[in-house]
Amino acid sequence: MENKIKMSTPLVEMDGDEMTRIIWQKIKDILLLPYVDLNTEYYDLGLVHRNETNDKVTIDSANATLKYGVAVKCATITPNAARMPEYNLKEMWKSPNGTIRAILDGTVFRSPILVKGINPYIPTWTKPITIARHAYGDIYKNTEMKVEKGTKAELVITDKNGKETRSTIHNFENTDGIIQGVHNTKESISSFARACFNYALDTKQDIWFSTKDTISKQYDHTFKDIFQEIYDAEYDEKFKSAGIEYFYTLIDDAVARVIRSEGGFIWACKNYDGDVMSDMVATAYGSLAMMTSVLVSPSGVYEYEAAHGTVQRHYYKHLKGESTSTNSVATIFAWSGALRKRGELDNNQELVNFAEKLEKATITTIEDGIMTGDLTALSTLSNKKKVDTETFLIEVNNRLKNLV
Ligand code: NAP
Ligand code: MG
Repeated sequence: MENKIKMSTPLVEMDGDEMTRIIWQKIKDILLLPYVDLNTEYYDLGLVHRNETNDKVTIDSANATLKYGVAVKCATITPNAARMPEYNLKEMWKSPNGTIRAILDGTVFRSPILVKGINPYIPTWTKPITIARHAYGDIYKNTEMKVEKGTKAELVITDKNGKETRSTIHNFENTDGIIQGVHNTKESISSFARACFNYALDTKQDIWFSTKDTISKQYDHTFKDIFQEIYDAEYDEKFKSAGIEYFYTLIDDAVARVIRSEGGFIWACKNYDGDVMSDMVATAYGSLAMMTSVLVSPSGVYEYEAAHGTVQRHYYKHLKGESTSTNSVATIFAWSGALRKRGELDNNQELVNFAEKLEKATITTIEDGIMTGDLTALSTLSNKKKVDTETFLIEVNNRLKNLV
């Protein structure tokens, strides 16, 4: 194209690992660079470079995201024991997503990409259900112990003047047992609430929140109260003028309503609920390879990525020179999400339109029956055809060409 779309502000680009790193470059070459004069600030979060920089590159990329406001991230390896010799690592570096989330103080929103022919297991779900998971505290930062028969377990707090308050958890008179202590903070719950309300406004969707406040009258009830206070003080009017709703209900009731719903809303969940429910919702919509994910900070900074990992098994096939059929849709949508947001913030309508067209071309390709192997296994289309990783992208471009 002669007149490529210009970008006034850089987008933070975080490259990654394995099969998704291969796909990353192909998406840029085939679908982006022909149309957009890409203005990115590039950070290589591939494990080789994280190791070389002692993981400083991850911190730098998160700080750049705070500076510019929008990032797009490729899937990255979280090292485990097997990766130590494979990459000759100096240390077992922490999860990049964990590091970035801690710096941005963000909440992760995960949504499915819906296409005709891939039917959710729940037939009424015609619109996406987005799960917002509070990614701090509760059992993920717990202290737990096994206790012996004859033990009395107490909760003890010491206030700033040294005064102790005690409350009995249980008297293990006749049996061994287990106990656990968990916490959360007003600061983190408030950030979570604001990220949820902002994202609801941003995407013009209702937001539901659920806890077990009837049983947990201090702990879970505090989540409910903080959400309500922030909503009343800061969001009620904005929600009314946007025509959307905040709806609180008990988690049991939420689960029942979600199943009967048609989708099209955000479900905010406590840490454990979000962990479990996001896997259930992803599976029910069909495929993890069709899930997008965005990290939103309370100050309105956005980082887009695919929900899946680096697709290691396909990468090893690729390294052996074998053909792969890896689904690039969630990674394409990470790019389109980030470009759209960049365009909105910069008042760059051309860029917003391009993002829309890229998504449309991708969905149309699958609805025309051309898809990767993971989707042919699910699709109900009669004319479906499995293609390799690169052919899928070329087919998307064949449709994109006609739209731009
Ligand atoms: P994964 O990469 O999500 O892949 C698990 C399996 O799901 C694949 O082997 C594949 O199944 C299927 N799959 C996932 N995405 C696919 C796609 N786009 N196209 C086709 N099939 C897809 O999870 P993993 O194997 O557990 O993790 C691999 C690495 O990714 C790990 O090092 C982990 O640390 C990292 N990871 C990173 C992130 C992130 O950066 N956000 C998230 C999760 C995991 P088949 O093999 O049956 O075809
Ligand atoms: Mg989980």
